[in-house]
Amino acid sequence: MDKQQEYVLRAIEERDVRFIRLWFTDVLGVLKSVAIAPAELEGAFAEGIGFDGSSIEGLSRVYESDMLAKPDPSTFQVLPWRGDENGVARMFCDVLTPTGEPARSDPRSVLKRAMNKAADAGFTFYTHPEIEFYLFQNVSSPQDPLVPIDTGGYFDHVARGTAHDFRRDAITTLESMGISVEFSHHEAGPGQNEIDLRYADALSMADNIQTFRTVIKEVALQQDVLATFMPKPLPDAPGSGMHTHMSLFEGDQNAFHDPSGEYQLSATARSFIAGLLHHAAEITAVCNQHVNSYKRLWGGDEAPAYVSWGHNNRSALVRVPMYKPEKGGSARVEYRALDSAANPYLAFAVLLNAGLKGIEEGYELPEGAAEDVAAMTREERKALGIRSLPASLREAVELMESSELVAETLGEDTFEFFLRNKRTEWQEYRAQVTPYELQRFIPAL
Ligand code: GLU
Ligand code: MG
Ligand code: MG
Repeated sequence: MDKQQEYVLRAIEERDVRFIRLWFTDVLGVLKSVAIAPAELEGAFAEGIGFDGSSIEGLSRVYESDMLAKPDPSTFQVLPWRGDENGVARMFCDVLTPTGEPARSDPRSVLKRAMNKAADAGFTFYTHPEIEFYLFQNVSSPQDPLVPIDTGGYFDHVARGTAHDFRRDAITTLESMGISVEFSHHEAGPGQNEIDLRYADALSMADNIQTFRTVIKEVALQQDVLATFMPKPLPDAPGSGMHTHMSLFEGDQNAFHDPSGEYQLSATARSFIAGLLHHAAEITAVCNQHVNSYKRLWGGDEAPAYVSWGHNNRSALVRVPMYKPEKGGSARVEYRALDSAANPYLAFAVLLNAGLKGIEEGYELPEGAAEDVAAMTREERKALGIRSLPASLREAVELMESSELVAETLGEDTFEFFLRNKRTEWQEYRAQVTPYELQRFIPAL
């Protein structure tokens, strides 16, 4: 047993932990959990705990269903909402085949593979997400109308608003689990909030995002409100994005920073952005995986629908924020398409590989956009060579199907499962006759 594993066993005794939840994530980004007793832990560290992978979305095919969940001791945390007595802790797991190989469709291993590739080129990939979500009054059925918990807007201080207590409880819970929060505020939509996590390496961050989603749901239960990461719950208010700031480090040097470059960006950063733009359309199905995601992307309100980059330009897909080292800022780029319902492991893996491809191939960065690209006419965008992101899940899936980059990044099993699942989601969706159609066409036709 190594030192970290020993530390976990000691912490379990000292903190009266009775149940250990082993967490892992399916291909669609849903967190899975199995609880074991402390006595099972040594075996789990040595060999993993067996489970039926075929019952979990995309994890394995039926005829090779035995899988092992092997806990990563560096992710050990006690779950604060379960109390101090007879406590509950969690660890994220790697999913392995019975022979101990990484399971090809474990999203965590997809991201690890991409990060190892970056490491071979000398880079560590860091991310920091701005996670937006809505708070509604509780409902008893998804058919009930959604009533936001307040009518606040961007940065509003809502007097005695539920959102303050909500954010305070969520943030103290996250921090007690070792997840640092940088900012939090009311977002532009009624009942919409944003919490920004302090940057970390992308694997830890993907784990943190999974924890974050769980914490938000737990606090919502405690406070009897409905929290949702659905990308566009209200037709007339902004959607919930998960803008992600990214940087590559070489040792302790930020490889995106060059004091003599335009906007202090290094050549590495410029090629990374060029890679993001070049591959943006084909990775969109992974970054925006639901039919509803496209209502956010094409719904205005600062969500990007066109492939462009800009310095501090909030209409651009990739924004280069002002570099303010005196305020502790760091050279980085912000990818604004991602939404709060993406599988963070898969999304970070495709973003990283798109950027790395730009570096490997030395892609040229086109001219940045200084204006609001959404306000330009179609002709103006065409003249500037600004393409669109896919407008629907169907279009996104078609572009992904012929993407070598996404196929290589996800690996064959995950790639095929993901496409199959998304085709089915599209088919189901397009078979619907919506309230809009009834209202519009029944009286008229
Ligand atoms: N809610 C917007 C979106 O869907 C982002 C607003 C912002 O700039 O923070 O991307
Ligand atoms: Mg925001
Ligand atoms: Mg942002």
